[in-house]
Amino acid sequence: MQSPVRDYLTEVLDSLDAERGGAVADYIPDLAEANPDLFAIAVTTVDGRTYCVGDDEVEFSIQSISKPLAYAAALADRGFDTVLEKVGVEPSGEAFNELSLESGTCRPRNPMINAGAITTHGLLVDDDADVESRVERARSFFSTLAGRELTVDQALHKSEMDSADRNLAIAHMLRNYGIVDDAPHDIVDGYIQQCSIMVTAKDLAVIGACFANGGVHPVTGERVMSRRIARQVMSVMAGCGMYDGAGEWLTTVGIPAKSGVAGGLLGTLPGQCGIAVFSPRLDEHGNSTRGVLTFRRLSTDMNMHMVDAE
Ligand code: GLN
Repeated sequence: MQSPVRDYLTEVLDSLDAERGGAVADYIPDLAEANPDLFAIAVTTVDGRTYCVGDDEVEFSIQSISKPLAYAAALADRGFDTVLEKVGVEPSGEAFNELSLESGTCRPRNPMINAGAITTHGLLVDDDADVESRVERARSFFSTLAGRELTVDQALHKSEMDSADRNLAIAHMLRNYGIVDDAPHDIVDGYIQQCSIMVTAKDLAVIGACFANGGVHPVTGERVMSRRIARQVMSVMAGCGMYDGAGEWLTTVGIPAKSGVAGGLLGTLPGQCGIAVFSPRLDEHGNSTRGVLTFRRLSTDMNMHMVDAE
């Protein structure tokens, strides 16, 4: 169906279609096979209208965009005190897969880098949870947010597990400092299954709108998380979601956001909308090149910087 919003998004998509900067992630063998030219933009407003253009039906793995969602689930399952004791909220200014912890507390600095996300995954459900129940908690919560049943791509999970030395090193470091108790292999296995949940750009826009709408699902009207959790997650995304590109992102785009290495980028503008872009070529920070350019355009054209938004 034609609409002025859709026409505008089509114009943005067409204007960035020739952009070929960056490269697909190749440290996960299956991701190296991705079609680099795919491109989709989707926006869901807090009153539940979705506008999608391009390859909006194509599924891709959620990867690091799972991190803020799992953080929301862990806050709901374990409460703020338990989660904050294990994972901080300070921007690290480092790459997503850095082997580093906060000095003094030995906590990962925030839940958006891998060390923090592996810890957060381990907090899902309760102390007795096993790999299967944590993955199912993530999958079913993400499905509730998306408004449809999502699945884990087990072939992709296996492909990443076969080359997960860096995440295994992070999990060993976390156990050494008493941040996690689980066997490093198990916790990384669960975290990587969480990263292998398949979504479309449309799913991500709807998910973003759940946060933007203060925790109420924009389509079903169901409360899917508390207002406090939605605020906490959006705040952490604003400060840490774009890794070592976070400061530039905040000044130039000003929309709390999270990227994933499969090329997804989710933004959430409080009180307004969820925004998603999918385009697999990544810049030097591991963020989708066209995704960043699309958000810059939207932020400028539509006055979406959170400091300007009314
Ligand atoms: N599964 C990926 C990893 O742990 C997710 C990273 C990302 O999307 N930035 O390396």
